[in-house]
Amino acid sequence: MEHSYLIKPMLASHYPTAVYGKGIYIYDEDGKAYLDGSSGAVTASIGHAVPEIIKAMTKQAEKISFVYRSQFTTNEAEQLARTLSEIDFIKDGHYSSFFVNSGSEATETAMKIAIQHWQEQGRPTKNKVISRWTSYHGITMGALSLSGHSERRHRFVSLLDDLPTIPAPYCYRCPFNQTYPSCQLKCASDLEAAIHRIGAEHIAAFIAEPIIGAAGAVIVPPDGYYERIKEICDENEILFIADEVMTGIGRTGKTLAMEHWNVIPDIIALGKGMSAGYTPIAATLASEKVLDPILQGSKIVMSGHTYSANPQSAAVSLAVLEYIEKHNLINEAEEKGAYLLAELQKLAEHFSMIGDVRGKGLMVGVEFVSDSLSKTPFPKKLDITNSIVLAARDKGLLIYPASAGIEGGEGDAVIIAPPLTIKKEEIDQLVELFKKTITDIQKSKEVHHDE
Ligand code: PMP
Repeated sequence: MEHSYLIKPMLASHYPTAVYGKGIYIYDEDGKAYLDGSSGAVTASIGHAVPEIIKAMTKQAEKISFVYRSQFTTNEAEQLARTLSEIDFIKDGHYSSFFVNSGSEATETAMKIAIQHWQEQGRPTKNKVISRWTSYHGITMGALSLSGHSERRHRFVSLLDDLPTIPAPYCYRCPFNQTYPSCQLKCASDLEAAIHRIGAEHIAAFIAEPIIGAAGAVIVPPDGYYERIKEICDENEILFIADEVMTGIGRTGKTLAMEHWNVIPDIIALGKGMSAGYTPIAATLASEKVLDPILQGSKIVMSGHTYSANPQSAAVSLAVLEYIEKHNLINEAEEKGAYLLAELQKLAEHFSMIGDVRGKGLMVGVEFVSDSLSKTPFPKKLDITNSIVLAARDKGLLIYPASAGIEGGEGDAVIIAPPLTIKKEEIDQLVELFKKTITDIQKSKEVHHDE
Protein backbone atom coordinates (compact mmCIF):
# COMPACT_ATOMS: atom_id res chain seq x y z
CA MET A 1 0.00 0.00 0.00
CA GLU A 2 1.18 3.48 -0.84
CA HIS A 3 2.48 5.28 2.25
CA SER A 4 0.31 8.08 3.57
CA TYR A 5 1.67 10.62 6.02
CA LEU A 6 -1.78 11.73 7.07
CA ILE A 7 -3.55 9.84 9.85
CA LYS A 8 -7.09 9.19 8.69
CA PRO A 9 -10.09 8.04 10.74
CA MET A 10 -10.06 4.55 9.24
CA LEU A 11 -6.48 3.81 8.33
CA ALA A 12 -7.25 0.90 6.01
CA SER A 13 -9.91 2.61 3.90
CA HIS A 14 -9.57 4.33 0.56
CA TYR A 15 -10.31 8.05 0.72
CA PRO A 16 -10.99 10.08 -2.39
CA THR A 17 -9.09 13.38 -2.49
CA ALA A 18 -11.44 16.35 -2.48
CA VAL A 19 -10.19 19.08 -4.82
CA TYR A 20 -12.98 21.63 -4.89
CA GLY A 21 -16.61 22.20 -4.01
CA LYS A 22 -19.39 24.18 -5.61
CA GLY A 23 -22.86 24.53 -4.15
CA ILE A 24 -23.95 21.19 -2.72
CA TYR A 25 -21.33 19.20 -4.68
CA ILE A 26 -17.77 18.16 -3.87
CA TYR A 27 -15.42 17.09 -6.70
CA ASP A 28 -12.51 14.70 -6.36
CA GLU A 29 -9.25 14.61 -8.31
CA ASP A 30 -10.83 12.52 -11.07
CA GLY A 31 -13.58 15.10 -11.48
CA LYS A 32 -16.18 12.81 -9.92
CA ALA A 33 -19.05 14.76 -8.29
CA TYR A 34 -20.44 13.87 -4.85
CA LEU A 35 -23.77 15.27 -3.72
CA ASP A 36 -23.07 16.42 -0.16
CA GLY A 37 -26.13 14.79 1.40
CA SER A 38 -24.88 15.23 4.96
CA SER A 39 -23.16 18.65 4.73
CA GLY A 40 -20.01 16.74 5.75
CA ALA A 41 -20.71 16.08 9.41
CA VAL A 42 -23.91 18.18 9.35
CA THR A 43 -21.70 21.25 9.03
CA ALA A 44 -21.49 22.76 5.52
CA SER A 45 -24.98 24.23 5.80
CA ILE A 46 -24.74 26.77 2.98
CA GLY A 47 -22.76 24.67 0.53
CA HIS A 48 -19.33 25.28 -0.89
CA ALA A 49 -17.54 28.29 -2.41
CA VAL A 50 -20.24 30.85 -1.66
CA PRO A 51 -18.80 34.15 -3.06
CA GLU A 52 -20.11 36.32 -0.16
CA ILE A 53 -18.25 34.19 2.40
CA ILE A 54 -15.04 34.12 0.39
CA LYS A 55 -15.22 37.91 0.14
CA ALA A 56 -15.72 38.31 3.91
CA MET A 57 -12.81 35.93 4.53
CA THR A 58 -10.45 37.77 2.22
CA LYS A 59 -11.44 41.17 3.60
CA GLN A 60 -10.77 40.05 7.17
CA ALA A 61 -7.50 38.33 6.26
CA GLU A 62 -6.25 41.62 4.86
CA LYS A 63 -6.96 43.38 8.19
CA ILE A 64 -5.22 41.23 10.82
CA SER A 65 -4.10 37.65 11.17
CA PHE A 66 -4.55 36.99 14.89
CA VAL A 67 -5.09 38.59 18.26
CA TYR A 68 -4.90 36.90 21.61
CA ARG A 69 -8.13 37.06 23.55
CA SER A 70 -6.62 38.30 26.82
CA GLN A 71 -4.84 41.16 25.00
CA PHE A 72 -7.49 42.40 22.59
CA THR A 73 -11.06 42.14 21.60
CA THR A 74 -12.10 42.74 17.97
CA ASN A 75 -15.13 44.33 16.36
CA GLU A 76 -15.83 41.05 14.59
CA ALA A 77 -15.93 38.96 17.79
CA GLU A 78 -17.99 41.63 19.60
CA GLN A 79 -20.43 41.84 16.70
CA LEU A 80 -20.77 38.06 16.49
CA ALA A 81 -21.53 37.82 20.22
CA ARG A 82 -24.13 40.61 19.81
CA THR A 83 -25.72 38.92 16.78
CA LEU A 84 -26.04 35.60 18.65
CA SER A 85 -27.55 37.33 21.69
CA GLU A 86 -30.15 38.88 19.39
CA ILE A 87 -31.51 35.53 18.19
CA ASP A 88 -35.19 36.22 18.72
CA PHE A 89 -35.99 33.12 20.71
CA ILE A 90 -33.37 33.76 23.42
CA LYS A 91 -32.90 37.51 23.37
CA ASP A 92 -34.74 38.13 26.67
CA GLY A 93 -32.09 36.07 28.48
CA HIS A 94 -29.30 38.54 27.54
CA TYR A 95 -26.85 35.81 26.57
CA SER A 96 -23.10 36.36 26.26
CA SER A 97 -20.82 34.19 24.13
CA PHE A 98 -17.57 32.43 24.96
CA PHE A 99 -15.94 31.53 21.63
CA VAL A 100 -14.05 28.29 21.11
CA ASN A 101 -13.05 26.22 18.09
CA SER A 102 -15.07 23.02 18.16
CA GLY A 103 -18.28 21.56 19.47
CA SER A 104 -16.36 19.48 22.03
CA GLU A 105 -14.81 22.63 23.46
CA ALA A 106 -18.22 24.29 23.52
CA THR A 107 -19.83 21.50 25.59
CA GLU A 108 -16.82 21.34 27.95
CA THR A 109 -16.97 25.10 28.42
CA ALA A 110 -20.69 24.77 29.12
CA MET A 111 -19.91 22.25 31.88
CA LYS A 112 -17.28 24.53 33.35
CA ILE A 113 -19.53 27.60 33.33
CA ALA A 114 -22.31 25.59 35.00
CA ILE A 115 -19.99 24.33 37.75
CA GLN A 116 -18.51 27.79 38.24
CA HIS A 117 -22.00 29.32 38.45
CA TRP A 118 -22.64 27.32 41.63
CA GLN A 119 -19.10 27.61 43.03
CA GLU A 120 -19.27 31.39 42.95
CA GLN A 121 -22.41 31.18 45.06
CA GLY A 122 -20.68 29.08 47.69
CA ARG A 123 -22.16 25.79 46.50
CA PRO A 124 -19.10 23.79 45.35
CA THR A 125 -20.74 20.39 45.77
CA LYS A 126 -23.02 21.10 42.81
CA ASN A 127 -20.43 19.83 40.37
CA LYS A 128 -21.83 16.87 38.41
CA VAL A 129 -23.53 17.06 35.03
CA ILE A 130 -26.28 14.59 34.15
CA SER A 131 -26.62 13.59 30.50
CA ARG A 132 -28.48 10.98 28.48
CA TRP A 133 -26.71 7.71 27.83
CA THR A 134 -27.72 7.85 24.17
CA SER A 135 -25.95 11.09 23.29
CA TYR A 136 -22.84 12.55 21.76
CA HIS A 137 -21.34 15.73 23.15
CA GLY A 138 -17.80 15.59 21.77
CA ILE A 139 -14.56 13.68 21.52
CA THR A 140 -12.37 15.22 24.25
CA MET A 141 -12.29 13.56 27.68
CA GLY A 142 -14.70 15.92 29.43
CA ALA A 143 -17.20 15.80 26.60
CA LEU A 144 -16.79 12.02 26.24
CA SER A 145 -17.59 11.67 29.94
CA LEU A 146 -20.99 13.13 29.09
CA SER A 147 -21.56 10.97 26.04
CA GLY A 148 -22.70 7.38 26.05
CA HIS A 149 -21.53 6.82 22.47
CA SER A 150 -19.91 3.48 23.28
CA GLU A 151 -17.94 3.12 20.04
CA ARG A 152 -16.18 6.42 20.69
CA ARG A 153 -15.72 6.11 24.47
CA HIS A 154 -15.12 2.47 25.45
CA ARG A 155 -11.32 2.48 24.93
CA PHE A 156 -10.85 5.44 27.23
CA VAL A 157 -13.22 4.77 30.13
CA SER A 158 -10.31 4.66 32.57
CA LEU A 159 -9.80 8.38 31.95
CA LEU A 160 -13.43 9.41 31.93
CA ASP A 161 -15.42 10.83 34.78
CA ASP A 162 -18.22 8.51 35.84
CA LEU A 163 -21.14 10.91 35.43
CA PRO A 164 -24.81 10.00 35.91
CA THR A 165 -26.98 9.38 32.85
CA ILE A 166 -30.63 8.75 32.05
CA PRO A 167 -32.22 6.98 29.02
CA ALA A 168 -33.13 8.91 25.88
CA PRO A 169 -36.65 9.75 24.62
CA TYR A 170 -36.30 7.10 21.91
CA CYS A 171 -39.93 6.31 21.07
CA TYR A 172 -39.14 3.85 18.24
CA ARG A 173 -37.57 1.59 20.89
CA CYS A 174 -38.87 2.99 24.15
CA PRO A 175 -36.31 2.23 26.90
CA PHE A 176 -39.26 1.71 29.26
CA ASN A 177 -41.26 -0.45 26.78
CA GLN A 178 -44.10 2.03 26.80
CA THR A 179 -45.98 4.07 24.22
CA TYR A 180 -46.54 7.80 23.97
CA PRO A 181 -48.70 9.40 25.36
CA SER A 182 -49.81 6.70 27.84
CA CYS A 183 -46.17 6.56 29.02
CA GLN A 184 -46.74 9.96 30.64
CA LEU A 185 -43.21 10.86 29.56
CA LYS A 186 -41.45 8.41 31.81
CA CYS A 187 -38.21 9.30 30.01
CA ALA A 188 -38.53 12.86 31.34
CA SER A 189 -39.62 11.97 34.87
CA ASP A 190 -36.64 9.62 35.03
CA LEU A 191 -34.50 12.77 35.34
CA GLU A 192 -36.35 13.56 38.56
CA ALA A 193 -35.72 10.04 39.86
CA ALA A 194 -31.99 10.36 39.03
CA ILE A 195 -31.78 13.73 40.79
CA HIS A 196 -33.42 12.32 43.89
CA ARG A 197 -31.03 9.36 43.82
CA ILE A 198 -27.89 11.51 43.52
CA GLY A 199 -29.09 14.56 45.42
CA ALA A 200 -29.68 17.93 43.77
CA GLU A 201 -26.90 19.37 45.93
CA HIS A 202 -24.42 17.38 43.81
CA ILE A 203 -25.74 18.36 40.39
CA ALA A 204 -24.79 21.50 38.47
CA ALA A 205 -26.58 20.87 35.19
CA PHE A 206 -28.40 18.55 32.82
CA ILE A 207 -27.16 18.49 29.21
CA ALA A 208 -29.09 17.27 26.17
CA GLU A 209 -28.95 17.54 22.40
CA PRO A 210 -32.42 18.90 21.52
CA ILE A 211 -32.52 16.28 18.77
CA ILE A 212 -30.03 13.45 19.21
CA GLY A 213 -27.55 13.28 16.32
CA ALA A 214 -24.58 10.92 15.98
CA ALA A 215 -25.55 8.54 18.81
CA GLY A 216 -29.18 8.19 17.81
CA ALA A 217 -29.64 9.24 14.17
CA VAL A 218 -32.07 12.11 14.75
CA ILE A 219 -34.13 11.11 17.77
CA VAL A 220 -36.85 13.74 18.11
CA PRO A 221 -38.47 13.66 21.56
CA PRO A 222 -42.25 13.61 21.93
CA ASP A 223 -44.14 16.81 22.68
CA GLY A 224 -44.08 17.81 26.31
CA TYR A 225 -40.69 16.20 26.97
CA TYR A 226 -38.58 19.35 27.19
CA GLU A 227 -41.26 21.28 29.04
CA ARG A 228 -41.16 18.59 31.73
CA ILE A 229 -37.34 18.42 31.70
CA LYS A 230 -37.04 22.19 32.22
CA GLU A 231 -39.61 22.09 35.02
CA ILE A 232 -37.62 19.36 36.79
CA CYS A 233 -34.37 21.32 36.33
CA ASP A 234 -35.90 24.52 37.70
CA GLU A 235 -37.53 22.79 40.67
CA ASN A 236 -34.16 21.30 41.64
CA GLU A 237 -31.93 24.31 40.88
CA ILE A 238 -30.19 22.56 38.02
CA LEU A 239 -29.07 24.42 34.90
CA PHE A 240 -30.30 23.16 31.55
CA ILE A 241 -27.60 23.01 28.84
CA ALA A 242 -28.81 22.57 25.25
CA ASP A 243 -26.10 21.10 23.04
CA GLU A 244 -27.14 22.68 19.74
CA VAL A 245 -23.80 21.93 18.05
CA MET A 246 -25.51 19.84 15.36
CA THR A 247 -29.00 21.36 15.41
CA GLY A 248 -27.97 25.01 15.72
CA ILE A 249 -28.44 27.81 13.21
CA GLY A 250 -31.34 26.70 11.12
CA ARG A 251 -30.70 23.02 10.53
CA THR A 252 -34.07 21.91 11.93
CA GLY A 253 -36.15 24.75 10.51
CA LYS A 254 -35.65 27.05 13.52
CA THR A 255 -32.53 29.05 14.38
CA LEU A 256 -32.19 26.91 17.53
CA ALA A 257 -33.96 23.56 17.77
CA MET A 258 -35.19 24.25 21.31
CA GLU A 259 -37.54 26.77 19.74
CA HIS A 260 -39.69 23.86 18.51
CA TRP A 261 -40.71 23.34 22.13
CA ASN A 262 -40.36 26.93 23.26
CA VAL A 263 -38.10 25.86 26.12
CA ILE A 264 -35.28 28.29 26.80
CA PRO A 265 -31.99 26.75 27.97
CA ASP A 266 -29.69 28.38 30.53
CA ILE A 267 -26.57 27.55 28.52
CA ILE A 268 -26.30 26.76 24.79
CA ALA A 269 -23.43 25.08 22.92
CA LEU A 270 -23.10 25.95 19.24
CA GLY A 271 -20.67 24.79 16.56
CA LYS A 272 -20.85 23.35 13.07
CA GLY A 273 -23.56 25.54 11.45
CA MET A 274 -22.14 28.72 12.98
CA SER A 275 -19.57 29.06 10.24
CA ALA A 276 -20.95 26.36 7.94
CA GLY A 277 -17.51 24.75 7.91
CA TYR A 278 -15.68 27.69 6.32
CA THR A 279 -13.49 28.16 9.41
CA PRO A 280 -13.43 26.44 12.81
CA ILE A 281 -15.48 28.32 15.39
CA ALA A 282 -17.92 27.29 18.11
CA ALA A 283 -19.48 29.05 21.07
CA THR A 284 -20.91 28.60 24.53
CA LEU A 285 -23.74 31.01 25.22
CA ALA A 286 -24.66 31.70 28.83
CA SER A 287 -27.60 33.77 30.00
CA GLU A 288 -27.26 36.79 32.26
CA LYS A 289 -28.73 34.72 35.10
CA VAL A 290 -25.95 32.13 34.71
CA LEU A 291 -23.12 34.63 34.34
CA ASP A 292 -24.14 37.09 37.05
CA PRO A 293 -22.65 35.19 40.01
CA ILE A 294 -19.39 34.81 38.05
CA LEU A 295 -19.29 38.53 37.19
CA GLN A 296 -19.94 39.41 40.79
CA GLY A 297 -17.41 36.84 42.00
CA SER A 298 -14.10 35.96 40.40
CA LYS A 299 -14.95 37.84 37.15
CA ILE A 300 -13.26 35.21 35.02
CA VAL A 301 -14.68 32.25 33.11
CA MET A 302 -11.99 29.68 33.75
CA SER A 303 -11.52 28.31 30.25
CA GLY A 304 -10.06 29.42 26.95
CA HIS A 305 -7.99 28.32 24.01
CA THR A 306 -5.31 30.11 22.01
CA TYR A 307 -7.59 30.48 19.01
CA SER A 308 -10.72 31.50 20.96
CA ALA A 309 -12.56 34.40 19.29
CA ASN A 310 -10.29 34.26 16.26
CA PRO A 311 -11.16 37.36 14.17
CA GLN A 312 -11.05 35.48 10.87
CA SER A 313 -13.50 32.88 12.14
CA ALA A 314 -15.72 35.52 13.73
CA ALA A 315 -15.91 37.48 10.44
CA VAL A 316 -16.75 34.32 8.53
CA SER A 317 -19.42 33.31 11.02
CA LEU A 318 -21.01 36.77 10.75
CA ALA A 319 -21.07 36.45 6.96
CA VAL A 320 -22.62 32.98 7.20
CA LEU A 321 -25.35 34.18 9.59
CA GLU A 322 -26.08 37.11 7.30
CA TYR A 323 -26.26 34.82 4.26
CA ILE A 324 -28.68 32.47 6.03
CA GLU A 325 -30.93 35.37 6.99
CA LYS A 326 -30.77 37.09 3.60
CA HIS A 327 -31.75 33.93 1.74
CA ASN A 328 -34.48 32.94 4.20
CA LEU A 329 -32.79 29.56 4.58
CA ILE A 330 -34.25 28.74 7.99
CA ASN A 331 -37.87 28.94 6.89
CA GLU A 332 -36.97 27.07 3.72
CA ALA A 333 -35.30 24.32 5.77
CA GLU A 334 -38.63 23.59 7.45
CA GLU A 335 -40.43 23.25 4.11
CA LYS A 336 -37.69 21.41 2.22
CA GLY A 337 -37.10 19.17 5.23
CA ALA A 338 -40.76 18.13 5.31
CA TYR A 339 -40.48 17.18 1.64
CA LEU A 340 -37.23 15.23 2.15
CA LEU A 341 -38.70 13.40 5.15
CA ALA A 342 -41.87 12.46 3.24
CA GLU A 343 -39.87 11.18 0.24
CA LEU A 344 -37.60 9.08 2.46
CA GLN A 345 -40.59 7.75 4.41
CA LYS A 346 -42.05 6.54 1.09
CA LEU A 347 -38.90 4.43 0.61
CA ALA A 348 -39.56 2.69 3.93
CA GLU A 349 -42.68 1.16 2.36
CA HIS A 350 -40.52 -0.54 -0.29
CA PHE A 351 -37.53 -1.68 1.71
CA SER A 352 -37.92 -4.03 4.66
CA MET A 353 -34.47 -3.03 5.91
CA ILE A 354 -35.65 0.54 6.58
CA GLY A 355 -37.09 0.40 10.08
CA ASP A 356 -37.67 4.06 10.85
CA VAL A 357 -37.33 7.42 9.11
CA ARG A 358 -37.47 10.40 11.47
CA GLY A 359 -36.50 14.02 11.44
CA LYS A 360 -37.08 17.72 11.81
CA GLY A 361 -36.21 20.21 9.11
CA LEU A 362 -33.22 19.21 7.02
CA MET A 363 -31.99 16.68 9.59
CA VAL A 364 -33.33 13.22 8.85
CA GLY A 365 -32.31 9.87 10.32
CA VAL A 366 -32.84 6.48 8.73
CA GLU A 367 -32.59 3.42 10.98
CA PHE A 368 -31.91 0.02 9.41
CA VAL A 369 -33.20 -3.31 10.73
CA SER A 370 -33.02 -6.88 9.54
CA ASP A 371 -36.80 -7.13 9.91
CA SER A 372 -39.03 -4.07 10.07
CA LEU A 373 -41.90 -5.81 11.89
CA SER A 374 -39.87 -7.10 14.82
CA LYS A 375 -37.40 -4.14 14.58
CA THR A 376 -34.57 -6.65 14.98
CA PRO A 377 -31.21 -4.94 14.43
CA PHE A 378 -28.66 -6.36 12.01
CA PRO A 379 -25.81 -8.33 13.56
CA LYS A 380 -22.95 -5.90 14.24
CA LYS A 381 -20.49 -7.98 12.20
CA LEU A 382 -22.39 -7.23 8.96
CA ASP A 383 -21.31 -3.58 9.37
CA ILE A 384 -24.41 -2.43 7.50
CA THR A 385 -23.99 1.28 8.18
CA ASN A 386 -20.53 1.46 6.66
CA SER A 387 -21.56 -0.72 3.69
CA ILE A 388 -24.38 1.73 2.97
CA VAL A 389 -22.22 4.83 3.39
CA LEU A 390 -19.54 3.41 1.07
CA ALA A 391 -22.05 2.15 -1.52
CA ALA A 392 -23.69 5.60 -1.54
CA ARG A 393 -20.30 7.28 -1.96
CA ASP A 394 -19.57 5.06 -4.97
CA LYS A 395 -22.80 6.34 -6.50
CA GLY A 396 -21.82 9.94 -5.75
CA LEU A 397 -23.85 10.53 -2.60
CA LEU A 398 -22.39 11.46 0.78
CA ILE A 399 -24.36 10.47 3.91
CA TYR A 400 -23.32 10.45 7.57
CA PRO A 401 -22.85 7.16 9.46
CA ALA A 402 -24.61 7.24 12.82
CA SER A 403 -25.76 4.85 15.51
CA ALA A 404 -29.40 3.95 15.78
CA GLY A 405 -29.66 4.84 19.47
CA ILE A 406 -29.67 1.35 20.95
CA GLU A 407 -27.69 1.10 24.20
CA GLY A 408 -26.00 4.44 23.80
CA GLY A 409 -24.65 4.01 20.31
CA GLU A 410 -25.46 0.64 18.78
CA GLY A 411 -27.58 -0.24 15.76
CA ASP A 412 -27.33 0.80 12.12
CA ALA A 413 -28.42 4.20 10.91
CA VAL A 414 -27.44 7.16 8.77
CA ILE A 415 -28.14 10.87 8.91
CA ILE A 416 -29.21 12.73 5.80
CA ALA A 417 -28.75 16.46 6.24
CA PRO A 418 -27.91 18.30 3.02
CA PRO A 419 -26.98 21.99 2.92
CA LEU A 420 -29.93 24.30 3.65
CA THR A 421 -29.35 25.69 0.16
CA ILE A 422 -30.38 22.44 -1.56
CA LYS A 423 -33.03 22.82 -4.26
CA LYS A 424 -36.10 20.62 -4.63
CA GLU A 425 -34.80 18.88 -7.76
CA GLU A 426 -31.53 18.17 -5.91
CA ILE A 427 -33.54 16.57 -3.08
CA ASP A 428 -35.14 14.32 -5.73
CA GLN A 429 -31.68 13.43 -7.00
CA LEU A 430 -30.48 12.70 -3.43
CA VAL A 431 -33.46 10.44 -2.74
CA GLU A 432 -32.96 8.61 -6.06
CA LEU A 433 -29.27 7.94 -5.30
CA PHE A 434 -30.20 6.76 -1.79
CA LYS A 435 -32.89 4.48 -3.22
CA LYS A 436 -30.40 2.93 -5.67
CA THR A 437 -27.96 2.42 -2.81
CA ILE A 438 -30.51 0.66 -0.61
CA THR A 439 -31.73 -1.44 -3.56
CA ASP A 440 -28.17 -2.75 -4.05
CA ILE A 441 -27.54 -3.32 -0.36
CA GLN A 442 -30.86 -5.09 0.18
CA LYS A 443 -30.17 -7.31 -2.84
CA SER A 444 -26.69 -8.21 -1.61
CA LYS A 445 -28.15 -8.97 1.81
CA GLU A 446 -30.69 -11.36 0.25
CA VAL A 447 -27.91 -13.06 -1.70
CA HIS A 448 -25.99 -13.27 1.55
CA HIS A 449 -28.97 -14.93 3.28
CA ASP A 450 -29.58 -17.37 0.40
CA GLU A 451 -26.01 -18.60 0.41
N1 PMP B 1 -22.10 17.93 20.22
C1 PMP B 1 -22.83 17.46 19.22
C2 PMP B 1 -24.32 17.39 19.37
C3 PMP B 1 -22.23 17.03 18.03
O1 PMP B 1 -22.98 16.54 17.04
C4 PMP B 1 -20.83 17.11 17.91
C5 PMP B 1 -20.12 16.67 16.64
N2 PMP B 1 -20.69 15.68 15.92
C6 PMP B 1 -20.10 17.62 18.99
C7 PMP B 1 -20.76 18.03 20.12
C8 PMP B 1 -18.61 17.74 18.91
O2 PMP B 1 -18.25 18.71 18.00
P1 PMP B 1 -16.79 18.74 17.36
O3 PMP B 1 -16.64 17.53 16.51
O4 PMP B 1 -16.77 20.02 16.58
O5 PMP B 1 -15.83 18.77 18.49
